[in-house]
Parts: sequence; C-alpha cells; structure tokens
Amino acid sequence: MIRDNYDVIVIGAGPVGGYLAWKLTEKGLSVLLVEEHAEIGRPFQCAGMVNPSAMDKIGAFDTVLTRIWGARMYSPSGTEIVIGDPDTTRTWSVCRKLFDERVVQLSLDSGADLLLSTKPVSATVTKSGVDISLDIHGEIKQIQCRMLCGADGAHSWVRRTFKMGRPKELLIGFQIEVTGYTGEEGRLDLFTGDDFAPGFFAWAIPSGNTTRIGNWSLPNKLGEESCEDLLEVLMKSSQWKERFSNCKEVGRYCGPVPAGLIHRPVIDRVAVFGDAAGLCKPTTGGGIGKGFEQVDLMLPKLVEAITTNDFTQSTVKNLNDTISSLRRNQNKSRALRNVFLTESTDEELDELFSVWSQPEVIDLINQLGDIDNPIPLGIKMLKDVPEFRRLASKAASALIWG
Ligand SMILES: Cc1cc2nc3c(=O)[nH]c(=O)nc-3n(C[C@H](O)[C@H](O)[C@H](O)COP(=O)(O)OP(=O)(O)OC[C@H]3O[C@@H](n4cnc5c(N)ncnc54)[C@H](O)[C@@H]3O)c2cc1C
Repeated sequence: MIRDNYDVIVIGAGPVGGYLAWKLTEKGLSVLLVEEHAEIGRPFQCAGMVNPSAMDKIGAFDTVLTRIWGARMYSPSGTEIVIGDPDTTRTWSVCRKLFDERVVQLSLDSGADLLLSTKPVSATVTKSGVDISLDIHGEIKQIQCRMLCGADGAHSWVRRTFKMGRPKELLIGFQIEVTGYTGEEGRLDLFTGDDFAPGFFAWAIPSGNTTRIGNWSLPNKLGEESCEDLLEVLMKSSQWKERFSNCKEVGRYCGPVPAGLIHRPVIDRVAVFGDAAGLCKPTTGGGIGKGFEQVDLMLPKLVEAITTNDFTQSTVKNLNDTISSLRRNQNKSRALRNVFLTESTDEELDELFSVWSQPEVIDLINQLGDIDNPIPLGIKMLKDVPEFRRLASKAASALIWG
C-alpha cells in the first residue's frame, strides 16, 4: 500500500538510494524508494569492489566473492610492482546484485516502501513540499513529500529536471567478465599504457570463479576509439596478451563514471546523492563508499530540515556545507592522479614505476596505501622520495587550490 504523502521520496534504488532510505527510516522518517527497473541490482555497471569501511556499514559479507589484499601493477614497458599483505584486506570483490539487494533490504526492514517498475514523470517544488507524479507500471499517481532525493545514477533525472548542473568530470568505463584469466588469488592486476587506457589504467579483478577485466579513460583522451576497442588491444596485442589467451567472456558492462561533485547537490527541497551528484573517486572510479559517506555526513542536518520542514536558504547552504570535505578530498585526489598518472606520458610513467619499485617506496605504499584515501600516500611520496620532488611544484598549486 503506497501512501499519498511521505517525508522523503528517493528516486533510484541502487546502493546509495538504498543506504539513504535506510538511514532516513532509522531516524523515524517515512520514505518511499522508487526504482525504474523490475528488480534491484540489474543492470549494473561495476567492477564490484566495495571498500572495507563501506562494507562494515552494511555487513553484507555473504556477498563477497573474493577478498582482495594486494595488487600487481605494471608500467607501460612492463616494470612490475607487487604490493600487499595477506593479513590486511584492501577491498572486497562482491556480487553487485546481491550487495544492492542487501542494502535495499535494510531500508525495507526499517520501514521504507519500495515501488519497482516505477519512474518519476514530473515534480514541482511548492512552499510546503514537492508534488511528484509517478508512472507506476503505466499508471500515473500523484504523491507529495517534504523532500525529493535523487540517487538515480550518472544520468540522474532529478539532477536534470531541477537543472542542478553536470558533474565536473565524466569518465567512461568498460568491462567484461571472463573465465580463464591467469591471475593471483587475492591480488588484482593494474596495467598502464596509452594503447589501452590513455591517462588511466586497465584492471583484472578476481571475482570468485571469474575475473572482471576493464579499462577507463576520459572521452577527450579516447579520440575516435572506444574503451571496448582499447580493451581488445590489451587482451589481444599487448605484452600481456598471454594472460588473456584462455579467457571466455561471460558478461559485459559499460558506463559513465561521474567523478566531479556538482556545484550544489542541494537546492530548495531537492538533493542528489552518489553518482547523481558526481561523487565517484577520480583515482579508482569507486562510487559506492563515497555515496555512503555523503549520506552519513549530511544525515543529521537533513533529518532536522525534514522534521522541522525548514528549507530556507540558510538551511540549504548548511546542508551543502556538510559535504565540503568530500569536495576538497575529491579535488585533491584528482590533482594527485593527474600528476602521477593522467598527465604522464608512457615514458614518464616508466620512470615513475622505476622509483615506485624501489623497496623503500614499496614499504611506504604498503604502509600508507589506502584505496579510500590516497592523499596521505601521495603527499608523503612527493615530500620524501627525492625523485618525485620535481613533481611537487606541479602538484602543489593543484593541491592547494583544487
Ligand atoms: C565499469 C565500471 C566499473 C565500476 N567499478 C566500481 C567498483 O568497483 N566499485 C565502486 O564502488 N564503484 C564502481 N563503479 C561506480 C559504481 O558503479 C557507482 O558509483 C555506483 O553504482 C553508484 O551508486 P548509485 O546508487 O549512486 O547509482 P546507481 O548504482 O547507478 O543506481 C541508480 C539507480 O537508480 C535507478 N534509476 C535511474 N534513473 C531512474 C529513474 N528515472 N526512475 C527510477 N529509478 C531510476 C537505476 O535503475 C539504479 O537502480 C564502476 C563504474 C563503472 C562504469
């Protein structure tokens, strides 16, 4: 039974929408979760890596396919760097469908209502709330809420409808799932090279009985070619081709990675979260953990605004301010990524790898390397590794002003 009135309507029952609905219902608010597909978690575009802090919030350890504790990283000409410690989990490789289902289930158990095969048709902000028209299996229904939240992904309907701007950076990722890859248990592989991942990297991530192989880049770096064409180069004609010779494709995914937080994720009574807000990490493309962080940071003020039905300009500004740290962190991560990876030629990358492969630098990476927060490691390397000091001035202004 769907009511005519909710405190909050959340569009999009992906991991971030499910998490937001869970946290709001836990605080006693009534929430309707709206999903355009007929089931949760399909289709998805994801390498399925969930960082430890995000996983701890959900506790969905039964969705884990492989525990990832290390990595093998390759320079364009083939220098190998092997990092990791089997006792320290760096990330979890999960079944993304099951993971999304678990998150949404938490919200339902906590009292949220869910509509599948439903999408918004129109929405208008009024003085006291938001009037929204939903297409439910082809039937139109009007519902009111105090606040409308869009967790509806990279192409967010909510963000577009309320003209909230575009993510600053939109990367493209492509991935296939294969059997037969010769990797190492618990270690993911990262490959760099202009031929197959210009300015970024390609990956092979163990996921139980299969491996997820993909690449990502910026549209302006791809030129006429697609990520799919370039992945073919990695697998068929690169120096790594032998590793892929027995691979059989069992699935494929392609999608955008919005990695530049929009100017104002909250306007009036409307807010966007996760990919809809442009929150993916510019370093790895991961978006689940950052979306959860956004919800956690905004939650106290969000609940207060909804409960008191106060959406004055100063309240909205305060809400936007709660995630300033995420914006700063994303800008710094992007600046470091540009210095160490995106703006480097293959020759420069080979030089960087030859420094990274020194035992004392590997120790530093093992000590400070954190998929969630690469900034401390990046800054330490710029300060302490003499060969990287020449990059420091390039990085400094981006880090200070980014
Ligand atoms: C190739 C690739 C690999 C990636 N690998 C990783 C990774 O390993 N780890 C990681 O953390 N992130 C990864 N990402 C990013 C990750 O997939 C997203 O950051 C994450 O899914 C964001 O969650 P979300 O809930 O914000 O959005 P989504 O997961 O996109 O969920 C949005 C939901 O909203 C629904 N929806 C959309 N529009 C409407 C509408 N109008 N009405 C109703 N419902 C709607 C969609 O059906 C969907 O269910 C990867 C992305 C790509 C492209």
